[in-house]
Amino acid sequence: MMNLVIFGPPGAGKGTQAKRLVDERGYIQLSTGDMLRAARKSGSDLGKKVAGIMDRGELVSDAIVIALIDEQLSANPNAPGFIFDGFPRTLAQAEALDKLLQSRGKKVNRVIRLNVDDAALLNRIAMRFKEQGRDDDNPDAFKVRLAAYNNQTAPLLPFYEGKGVLREVNGMDDIDTVAGAVARLLDLD
Ligand code: AMP
Repeated sequence: MMNLVIFGPPGAGKGTQAKRLVDERGYIQLSTGDMLRAARKSGSDLGKKVAGIMDRGELVSDAIVIALIDEQLSANPNAPGFIFDGFPRTLAQAEALDKLLQSRGKKVNRVIRLNVDDAALLNRIAMRFKEQGRDDDNPDAFKVRLAAYNNQTAPLLPFYEGKGVLREVNGMDDIDTVAGAVARLLDLD
């Protein structure tokens, strides 16, 4: 049973790598961003509540995303593994995740950080904005998202390093090379 946090700034390739692991290993991808976008699409109260925050590129409240993860962990008791994608993004979320897993006799086994420099991120997101038209990929919202990562999410790195679970991969390489490096880290120990 593998509980993997795939970690990195927006545009690092977390979703792409998570989907590979779903295909290759049957792990379940828990992307809070995807869940929130689905809520918006469905027109639910939750979707309405988070729409403005997401479009500005800010983080939604910890309580909302923690509840979404809790729900999905309960809904998939027999999963061979979970990939946490875009969660946790704050220290409070990381602590809540530890508790949620602990109460199920599990823990975060690995955190794999995808390292990509800021210039490459800007390029990738500009391209995705053109291709997919995701509102929060516009340059202004992206700046806010990057700042949220640097200020609120990057502090999780020492948290996980202290637990001995943090590993790093060069996220500048092509998708297959990154996937190979991720696979090796998962199989290694
Ligand atoms: P993502 O697709 O992971 O980049 O998420 C898109 C947006 O959803 C983020 O910019 C936030 O507004 C919101 N979001 C997703 N995951 C989280 C999270 N773990 N904590 C707070 N906000 C989140």
